[in-house]
Amino acid sequence: MKNCIFCKIIKGEIPSIKVWEDAETYAFMDINPTRPGHMLIIPKKHVDYIFETEEPLFTKLFVNAKKLSKALKSSTGALKIGLAIEGIAVRHVHLHLIPVNNVNDLDPCKSKKGNIEELKQMAEKIRKELKD
Ligand code: 5GP
Ligand code: ZN
Repeated sequence: MKNCIFCKIIKGEIPSIKVWEDAETYAFMDINPTRPGHMLIIPKKHVDYIFETEEPLFTKLFVNAKKLSKALKSSTGALKIGLAIEGIAVRHVHLHLIPVNNVNDLDPCKSKKGNIEELKQMAEKIRKELKD
């Protein structure tokens, strides 16, 4: 999709801090994390609305989110990994995976521009947990 920022990330036209990918999905650090470790998983194919995502892609997104959540939880030590999906600002399906310890940790008003070096270090930490 032309002018879609996440399609541009998939094509490598815009840089991103990748955590993991497979043939259908791509996971990377959110540049404005709500909590340290905040990451996104997206389909490589442009789909606007989560509940219009066809099978088997819909299931694949959640299966991969589950796999990533384990690595994210152990690398951050969070109580749980929260999931948020709304996609109003960016109209390309994305699942927010956010380490949470408190009820309001998913609040998007808490998001702040991340430090690129810190985001890279966090991505590396998560990747390491995925391998082990
Ligand atoms: P939403 O559509 O779910 O309201 O918000 C879009 C999310 O994508 C936000 O959390 C925002 O920080 C993130 N985002 C927007 N543009 C970029 C980008 O170019 N790179 C990355 N890594 N994240 C982005
Ligand atoms: Zn797109």
